[in-house]
Amino acid sequence: MTTALLIVDAQNDFCPGGALGTDRGDEVANKIAELISTPDSRAREYSHVLATQDWHIDPGAHFSETPDFRDSWPVHCVAGSAGAEIRGPIDTSLIDAFFRKGEYSAAYSGFEGSSDGTELAQWLRDHGIDTLDICGIATDHCVRATVLDALKEGFAVRVLGDMCSPVDHQRGVRALEEMRDAGAELS
Ligand SMILES: [Zn+2]
Repeated sequence: MTTALLIVDAQNDFCPGGALGTDRGDEVANKIAELISTPDSRAREYSHVLATQDWHIDPGAHFSETPDFRDSWPVHCVAGSAGAEIRGPIDTSLIDAFFRKGEYSAAYSGFEGSSDGTELAQWLRDHGIDTLDICGIATDHCVRATVLDALKEGFAVRVLGDMCSPVDHQRGVRALEEMRDAGAELS
């Protein structure tokens, strides 16, 4: 069993003060930072630490001036902007690869992302990874979509629930139940 940590969209715009800030964003960023930078933590178990980033250039109807906060959103995570950067204090030098998604359309799942032209699922297989610990933002959107796709792709998945931040608390709870029902382990 080879396990990687996959950090989903832990970006400035999804944290307090950002375009789409989630309430627990900083708490989650702090926990992830501690996990990956503490040498004797369970991070030792990871072969790789990976991150996804929402990375929009012109994503069409994903952006709206009158967003419904389900299918359309205020402008966020514009490619190359400060809002799209990984949230501190997460140390990006400890992340082995970044999978960017959503350049020209909505992309909730990290499995729509690629790193230097290699899509996430292929990258994982190329590196012999069969198990993922997944955390990040937002529980009820991109974490959910990434976890469900990981299971469909045949990876074993554990969701680090205390390192996930939802847009909406109740939808976040339901999303975790849905991930568990689909076969993910919750921890
Ligand atoms: Zn987006």
